[in-house]
Amino acid sequence: MQKTITGRIHSVESFGTVDGPGIRFVIFMQGCPLRCLYCHNRDTHNPNFGMKVTVDELMSDILEYKIPMRFSDGGVTVSGGEPTLQPEFVTELFKRCRSEQMHTALDTSGFCEVEKVQELLNYTDLVILDLKHADEIKHKQLTGVSGLLNRKFAAFLCARKIPVWLRYVLVPGYTDSDEDLHAAALYIKQFDNIQRVEVLPYHALGAYKWSEFGEQYPLEGVLPPNTEQIEHAKRILNAALQ
Ligand code: SF4
Repeated sequence: MQKTITGRIHSVESFGTVDGPGIRFVIFMQGCPLRCLYCHNRDTHNPNFGMKVTVDELMSDILEYKIPMRFSDGGVTVSGGEPTLQPEFVTELFKRCRSEQMHTALDTSGFCEVEKVQELLNYTDLVILDLKHADEIKHKQLTGVSGLLNRKFAAFLCARKIPVWLRYVLVPGYTDSDEDLHAAALYIKQFDNIQRVEVLPYHALGAYKWSEFGEQYPLEGVLPPNTEQIEHAKRILNAALQ
């Protein structure tokens, strides 16, 4: 008999193609302790919102897509919000995915205590890890929290030899100066388990969600980076890959 564990999710996407290899079933968990100024998932912040689901319910949805996932070397990605806020639920889900030979990816800000996710990492094939900012002061300004947990988590993943895809959101005026990019490159150079770096251009598509909560969008007026800025960032960060 399978254990019944309940989690809170925001939504799912059955044919994701950007959050890990192949075609993926992506689960967006509810709840996030960060407050990124550019957040386009403002509606995931409150851990008491969202839908309650059991691992069994979610697995029966996931299994409907097992064939396309298998033929594309895809799998299941758990994203957020912040998925490590519900480690027991995600661990059980990944265990069940592994028993179905499905690849598992954890998409996280890395803002978590390593001790609380050790078991979860036993069932995680890939971590998609955000680097919000490599400078501690700017990290706090951008996200509302310290970047130290992220660094500890990244070091732990490296020691455990867990593959990482690193994500860096390029926000003009916040993360795109040469100083910012070279600091991010130094961070990347420390770890030999980072397989790829993805530079995500900032966009304001989720700004309307802030007004739905009666809040002003913090980056009002900030424009997305242009192609030249994106290519420049990619060059610096990719050169840091070992
Ligand atoms: S970590 Fe993601 S969900 Fe959380 S505030 Fe930042 S962008 Fe939003």
